[in-house]
Amino acid sequence: MVVASRAQCSVITVLIDFHTHTSASDGALDPCELVARALASNIDLFAITDHDTVAGYMAAAAYHRQRDDGMQLIPGIELSCQWSGTTVHILGLGIDCAHPAMSGALQTMSGAREERGEKIAQRLAARGFAGALQGALALAGDSHLGRPHFAAWMVEQGHVRDENQAFDLYLGQGKTGDVKAFWPELAEVTRWIVDSGGAALIAHPLKYRFTGMKLRRLIEDFVAAGGCGIEVASGRQTRDQLAQLTRLARQYALEVTIGSDFHRDAPYGAPLGVESAPFEGLRGVWERWASAQ
Ligand code: MN
Ligand code: MN
Ligand code: MN
Repeated sequence: MVVASRAQCSVITVLIDFHTHTSASDGALDPCELVARALASNIDLFAITDHDTVAGYMAAAAYHRQRDDGMQLIPGIELSCQWSGTTVHILGLGIDCAHPAMSGALQTMSGAREERGEKIAQRLAARGFAGALQGALALAGDSHLGRPHFAAWMVEQGHVRDENQAFDLYLGQGKTGDVKAFWPELAEVTRWIVDSGGAALIAHPLKYRFTGMKLRRLIEDFVAAGGCGIEVASGRQTRDQLAQLTRLARQYALEVTIGSDFHRDAPYGAPLGVESAPFEGLRGVWERWASAQ
């Protein structure tokens, strides 16, 4: 935590990252490596928000408990849902991972993923690529099965030159393996998070490329379902995007969250941690935990 003095007032800034992924979903670092990275980055408030699993958080929490440091680790998740024909991601922060509402949610989500994996494999088999499901599952290991695992399997089998080609020819948008998962509805996913004691916020609201009107409709539906806020800083984005999101947050009196959506070190990826000071005056969801420090 840094206390920066200004001419008139002093602003307390904390370094926050409430949107990160481990190898339990589609991140490159295992949970301990990610916590170690967060500690090395001097993060004050940290959440792991893997897609549809808390396994990464549980492993990270066990590792984090053995260390005496100033960082608070908050349980989190990023759940996929459907809204108006589009897949939307909802962040759940401060959830009770052991709550029946959350275990039920995780079961539903893994069922949806399994069904989707089977369908992708069937479609690939129809194109002459047999054994995709077993192959992709073996490569996925402990992490959730997804299209990248099918791509890796196709490379391994010599069906394609590299993973890009696998997506270009078979797995990318509009191709045979582009199977949409049957995610639950927005209201249901939001309720799971709220019922398990968490704060529900819309992840990267501009990523869905909705019109302004549709985005406002999403926010209104989400709030009606029990959602409390939106992610205003997510990885790399422009000043205009940030301004648009903070305007929406003010207009609807929403809580806001900030994070990197870190998956791996990448040339255009954001590093861990976002300073809280520029968001002073907004209702930071982190205040729920920062006050406990
Ligand atoms: Mn991801
Ligand atoms: Mn997402
Ligand atoms: Mn994410």
